[in-house]
Parts: sequence; structure tokens; C-alpha cells
Amino acid sequence: MKVKWFFRLSLLLGFFSIQHPTGIFAQEVSRIEPPFWWTGMAESELQLLVYGKDIGKTRVSLSYPGVELKEVVMVENPNYLFINLNIGSQASPGIMQLVFQGSRKRPLVISYELKARTEGSAQRGGFDNADVIYLLMPDRFANGNPANDNMPGMLEKANRGNPDGRHGGDLAGIVSHFDYLKKLGVTTLWLNPVLENNMPAYSYHGYAITDFYKVDPRFGTNEDYADLIRKAQDKGLKIVKDVVFNHFGTNHWWMNDLPSADWINQWPEFTRSNYRGGTLTDPYASESDKKLMLRGWFDRTMADFNQDNPFVSNYLIQNSIWWVEYAGLDGIRVDTYPYSGKSFMRRWKQRINKEYPNFSVVGEVWLNTTPQVAYWMGNAANADGFNSELKHLFDFPLKYAIRDAFNESNGWSSGVSRLYESLSLDFLYANPMNIVVFADNHDADRIFTALRDDIRKFRMAMAFLLTVRGIPQIYYGTEIAMTGWEHSGHGFIREDFPGGWDGDESSVKDRKSLKENQREALEFMQMLLNWRKNKKVIHNGKTTHYVPENGVYVYFRHDDNESVMVVINNNEESRTFTTERFAENLTGYQTGTDVLHRTYFDQLRTISIPAMSARIIELKR
Ligand code: CA
Repeated sequence: MKVKWFFRLSLLLGFFSIQHPTGIFAQEVSRIEPPFWWTGMAESELQLLVYGKDIGKTRVSLSYPGVELKEVVMVENPNYLFINLNIGSQASPGIMQLVFQGSRKRPLVISYELKARTEGSAQRGGFDNADVIYLLMPDRFANGNPANDNMPGMLEKANRGNPDGRHGGDLAGIVSHFDYLKKLGVTTLWLNPVLENNMPAYSYHGYAITDFYKVDPRFGTNEDYADLIRKAQDKGLKIVKDVVFNHFGTNHWWMNDLPSADWINQWPEFTRSNYRGGTLTDPYASESDKKLMLRGWFDRTMADFNQDNPFVSNYLIQNSIWWVEYAGLDGIRVDTYPYSGKSFMRRWKQRINKEYPNFSVVGEVWLNTTPQVAYWMGNAANADGFNSELKHLFDFPLKYAIRDAFNESNGWSSGVSRLYESLSLDFLYANPMNIVVFADNHDADRIFTALRDDIRKFRMAMAFLLTVRGIPQIYYGTEIAMTGWEHSGHGFIREDFPGGWDGDESSVKDRKSLKENQREALEFMQMLLNWRKNKKVIHNGKTTHYVPENGVYVYFRHDDNESVMVVINNNEESRTFTTERFAENLTGYQTGTDVLHRTYFDQLRTISIPAMSARIIELKR
């Protein structure tokens, strides 16, 4: 951020400057946030946070056509002011002069820019069912610029030998993989947080933000980030930003000089959240448990925002809009969604909707059962009337079902019945098509490991993930069967992507250098992802499934034009079965082709399927 000082130079001031080289002004401004704004936004109100020594003791004035200075609010700490502006529809882009009059004769004058909003910004789209989201951790994906691995002023230095340290990955490394990702067949990239995390340790994951308006210099600059997004969009890739509203890094500059004590949730001593998101929907939950959930800290190094403070909530809302507008985002993923509280998250979403009615937001509501997750989906039929207005959620219950389905023997509720039963609860979702489905992410066991390094289970899981209703999300490295247990430490499920570093022994860009099962997984994923890309019936078709029998699960994705039959055989033996009981989906169809095995079925009366495998059969009339 650049704060420019405009001194009203006059001979007289020059004279005083010479006479009083220091202390001409009793006040100073070191921060204004947001650092700039736009004309033509749907919401005309803007609240500036101004930080500087004794700035709260000044009188503020502003004269700019179309902009009204509505209110200047002092808070506990005299080093802060909050300035409420109304930017009318007739305001033109330009530089406003904010005048801070203190006890000295000469005021402090600070320029503040109103940029022209990019044409079409409000109509931006987002991701939808035709997309597949690829989650990657910027520090661990690829090091495109070794020169930024260590940066002046940044506390933690790169150490690739430390699983919990910074490894040097950056934005340039991501850009250098766009062609790989396009070829793989994913359409949307979700980057774990990229904002500054100037923490002494564990700073690589990005969830302890120390500057909400600055990309971490070890990843690149704000301009690099906006540039990455433009380049991605030019290639037909969308970018989703990971945002964090529950907490921020304790090395944030606020922590030395809070605007007010209630900026964060304060406790007599460090008090951890109980992480029980379910308390917010539990009719019997105690107030103390709910308080601990919402106001307990996520970790010692992560101060907990008090979103009930209206200056905090405005700050966070404007911060999101600033990044969408500045960088040109396609979507947002919200970390720890319930932890920031129902009313704040709803208000945040309403403001996003007001500026960008077609924009995509997916919330992390990490709860294990479908009713708990469904409560947070917009337009849910909740008994208490709560409507989050949030369109997309992650399907955590189905994630657990995928893991268990292929590791268990098949029974009434076990094995492949897990998938059937999880989907049967979709009546609870306001719209199950909007759920984001996944098998692993940056907080979970690598799916290949969770499936006991069995490539057959992996293929079944991925065939399911990429044909089931919803929007699939895969985790970087899943496509090459990367391994790691979460309980070994998070560093082990976030290992460096092969080939992202100079001198790596293997690389996704040189398939011969990969291990056989990695190559096999990659070829399978690439084929399946590219097949899905143009398969409208998989994007938007209806689902009909059948009670699993003998460890075989059969479902259809179908619309008026076409139908795909998916068969999953979760047995160590092959199966052959007759298809009478699927008549309501098979009537009118005569033949089919299994896209996974390139197998042609010249009849559909009996179907054979090898042990521990899936078939995805495109039906022909
Ligand atoms: Ca680097």
C-alpha cells in the first residue's frame, strides 16, 4: 500500500519546516485500509480504517464531488479512526484528498484513490457443475522463483528439509504449471491462502494472516497475483481464493496496538475452541459450549476475530470485495465457516451477493453428518428459519463414506452401501447439485494412503467422485497417487509436488520419471477428467441409484438426451449380473461403451465387471 503525502507547499511551510525539522505534525498516518476503492459499486457505503499516532485526535474533512463524508468514528485507541463515506453514483474516479486537522496549523493531507470499476465486474460468473476444482498449496506446489524463497523482513526462512517449514513454492511456480493443469483436465484452481503470514514458524500454510491487503512476498506481489489470475483466465482456468475470517496471525500489526479490546475475543488466559461446530445447530447445546466454539482461539498463534464488533465485520466484508475487484477472482472458499458465527457469515454473503450476484462461494463447514452440513446451505428448510444464503458447501459426510466404502466388507450399511446411504440423505440439502465433493484435501489423509495404497480402490473412488452429483474437487498430487497420513503431521499430507523444484528426481512433466503407480494414476485421472469436461449429463443430469446387491453399486446419471450407467464392484471377485431391476433406466437403450476400459457392450441384459473395479458405461439407444 502506498500512502502519499501531499504537503501544501508554501514558502511559509517551507520556512517552518526548516525551523522545525521534526514535529511539524502532531499526527501521522501509517495505514489506510482498504488502500483504495472503486466508483460504481452496488454498495455506496465505504468505511476506511485509518491508523496513525494520535490520528483519533484530528478533525477530518473531505471535499470531492459525489462523495459524502458521513461520519468519523473514534474508538478506544486514539491511534485509529474509522471514516464512513458515501460514494454516490455520480462520483468519478480520481484522487480524493482526506484532510486531517490536528493541533498544528497545517493539516495532514492524504490522497485516497477511487478507481474506475472494471466493466462487467458485477456480472462475473463463478464455478459450476461443469467445473472440477484443483486444490493446491502454493508453498508446496512449485518453486518458480528461488530468489523469493527468503525475503527481507519475513521471519521464517526457507528450509525444504523441514516438513513444517517453508519450501519456497510460489505464484510463478503455479503459472508454470497451467499447461499441465489444462491437459490434466481440471478447470478451476483453489489456492490455499496467499496473503502475508509473517510468523516465525508454520507460516507456509497461509492461515495465520498478518496483512489482509498484501500477498506474502515469498509467493510474489499483489500484482503477480492479479497477473496469475489474468493468465489463468486467458487459458480458461478459474481461480478461487481461500479466505479466513475466524482468525489471523498474532504477528499482525494490530496485535501491538488493537483498535479496541473487543477487536478480538479476549480470555484471561489462552483458551482453545472446542472445535464443535455442531453446537451451533444443537438444540440442547449449552451457552458455554457455544461460546467456546465461537470465541475460543483456533490456535495460540491465531488471534480470534470478534465479528460482533461492527468495525471488524465491515473490515472483513470490504477486504473480500477488494480482492474480488482488484484481482478479478472467480470464486472464494471460506475457511472455518461456522466459527465466524451465523449472523456475520450471512451478512458477509449478502454483501457479496449484492456486488456479484453470480459469484461462487464455497464454505468449509467441517461437520460429519449430512443434517449438520445441510443446515448451512442457503434456502435450507431450517426449523429456526436460518438461511445462510451460501450456495456451495463441501460434502464432508461423503468424503468419509468414500474412504470407508472401499476399505470395508460389504454389508447392509457398510462397504459400498456407505455411498448409497450417504446420497440417500440428499433430501436434506436445499440443492444437492451445489455440493462440492472431494476425497481428500490439505487437512486429510491422502486418499491413496487412506485406501491402503491400492490402485484398484483409488480408481473406484475417483470414478465415483467424477460421476456423482455435485462439483468435484481434487487435491494436488492426488492425480499421481501421492501418499501421507494426517496423523504423521500436516507436512506429510502437503509434500512437494514432484518436479516443482530444480533438481527433483521425478516430475509430472516427465512421465517416465514417475513411479509406475503414479503414471497409472495420472493417465487414469487425465482420461476421466477430460471425459467429464464435456459430459453435460454428468454435470447436470439427474441421479437414480439402486440398492447395492452383493457389493455391487449401480447408479445412472441421465437426462432427456443421454444416460450414463456407473457400476462399482467392491468385491475381490468379478461379478456378472442381469439387469432387469434397472429397467426404468435401461428401457430404450440397447448397447453401451465403458469409457474406463474402452469395452463395448453389444447388449445390456447381463453385465460383467472385474473384481474391485468401476465401469462408466455410456448408453446407446
Ligand atoms: Ca520461491
